[in-house]
Amino acid sequence: MNIFSGFEGDYENSDAVLTKHSTDASVFKVRPQGVLYPRSVEDISLVVKTLHEKKKGGEDVSLSVRAGGTCMSGGSLHPGYILNLTRYMNKIEVNPEALTATVEMGAYFRDIEAEALKHGLMFASYPSSKMICGIGGMIGNNASGEQSLRHGATIDNVISLQVVLADGSLLHTTKVSLDKVNSSADKILVDLHAEFASRLAERLKGVRKTSSGYRLDRIVHDNMFDIAPLFVGAQGTLGIVTHAVLRLVPISTYTRLLLVSIDSLEALPAVLKTVLTHNPECVETFDVNTFKRAEQYLAEDASRIKFCFADETHALVLVELSEDTQEETDRVARQCVVDLEKLSVRVHYVDDQVLFASAWNVRRHSFSLMRDNNESGFRAVPCIEDSIVPLAVFDVFVGGLIEILARYNLSYAYHGHIGEGALRVIPIFDMRKEDVADTIISFTREVVSLLSRLGGNPSADHSDGIIRSPFLKEFYGEDMFDVFHTIKELFDPMHILNPYKKTGGTEENIRRWLDR
Ligand SMILES: Cc1cc2nc3c(=O)[nH]c(=O)nc-3n(C[C@H](O)[C@H](O)[C@H](O)COP(=O)(O)OP(=O)(O)OC[C@H]3O[C@@H](n4cnc5c(N)ncnc54)[C@H](O)[C@@H]3O)c2cc1C
Repeated sequence: MNIFSGFEGDYENSDAVLTKHSTDASVFKVRPQGVLYPRSVEDISLVVKTLHEKKKGGEDVSLSVRAGGTCMSGGSLHPGYILNLTRYMNKIEVNPEALTATVEMGAYFRDIEAEALKHGLMFASYPSSKMICGIGGMIGNNASGEQSLRHGATIDNVISLQVVLADGSLLHTTKVSLDKVNSSADKILVDLHAEFASRLAERLKGVRKTSSGYRLDRIVHDNMFDIAPLFVGAQGTLGIVTHAVLRLVPISTYTRLLLVSIDSLEALPAVLKTVLTHNPECVETFDVNTFKRAEQYLAEDASRIKFCFADETHALVLVELSEDTQEETDRVARQCVVDLEKLSVRVHYVDDQVLFASAWNVRRHSFSLMRDNNESGFRAVPCIEDSIVPLAVFDVFVGGLIEILARYNLSYAYHGHIGEGALRVIPIFDMRKEDVADTIISFTREVVSLLSRLGGNPSADHSDGIIRSPFLKEFYGEDMFDVFHTIKELFDPMHILNPYKKTGGTEENIRRWLDR
């Protein structure tokens, strides 16, 4: 039943629509109550206000928001209502002089990319899912990708946001000097920052990016207060972002790709150490198991890069370099080849644009190749896929991880934004086993604990969602978890907004929503 009187968008609860909104790229299935396609900010406010009133009246109502629905942690999945902004709220305006784009949160990234490209610009923190994800989800997850090594994650490229808060009111974020902060909520945040931000920053200092918890550490900078970073990576638990002003950067004109074949995961740290001294634009990887799937399902691309996979090749590292001229780019690339060859790895200097595109195509499809093509009863489960570690301890992490995977007797494939220490290991679980949910939970807990000991983080850019929220308290400790809880209470005291994520996550949610 449509309880939202005055709502001008579409309300749908057909089986097809509810089924579509029950899954994303995670391993969960949660059937929502109804899906709302708002036409405007006013529509969103109306929905939130209605739920606010109902909740005050004692009804158990809540909502989450969804864009492309490609989240791997189950971020938008929700048993209540789902707001889907993609049907009507997808305007994009690029300002090439200011190097900005003003976008509505229902816009797909591919459309923003096309508009920006007309001016030789890009929004650089795009994920490998760039053809299917939306900007709302990129902000919700603090997404990042192949260009983030040079240009940062989404949080680094958002200038300002417009947000509908949990009481239906509208917030426009702006930077203000600390002495001008006057609302009581902002003052509480500034106080929380003063007391806890350095401790949080200390916890995060080893990793180049994260979308776990709430980014309290980012709301004060150079004596200026800016609330926007708190909403980035918050998975819609603090507010519904409706518009954003994004920073665009020029697309590199001159590039050169090197393909580096390595014989073991253990060889990766030395390769990374070497290539990172050459200021690469992107450093990515995928392994031989991913390649084998590509041979079946992306046959043309795989055949072009097959020469990189000699018998003993375990993984391919893609190193893209870019400087101000082609001559300089090629000079740096050749020096990088010389340095890499000292490590006895095989390096291929790519001159051919078709080969270049094929290597990137396999890399960008790495997760889908593993997810979509398993023996019946088995599933590739994103649970530890978002691990990120300081490069200095990468080898220790790899050793520990291989030991845990072996103990659980799991086969796996991996890929990742490896230049930043983000290694996406995708284990394959036998979903027919009675205790598979408990196994996923205890396996994930062990890896989270390893990451904690090594100064890494379990959520680089897919955020906490259903799968990792239950580990936030163990990972950050009781004190910091309480701070996250205080932030949630400040923004959403009645738990209307995506309440089962972040501080609302439980192991029980993993068990009841696991899609077997
Ligand atoms: C093949 C594949 C490759 C991937 N590669 C990467 C990668 O390289 N890097 C990466 O970061 N991720 C990657 N992902 C995960 C995912 O695609 C990205 O994080 C993407 O940015 C999510 O966007 P979406 O529009 O699909 O989000 P959704 O799944 O719709 O939502 C994601 C989260 O954002 C919240 N959200 C959505 N809209 C709003 C809003 N308006 N306001 C507040 N919160 C909102 C949702 O509630 C949810 O919690 C990949 C996924 C796939 C399937």
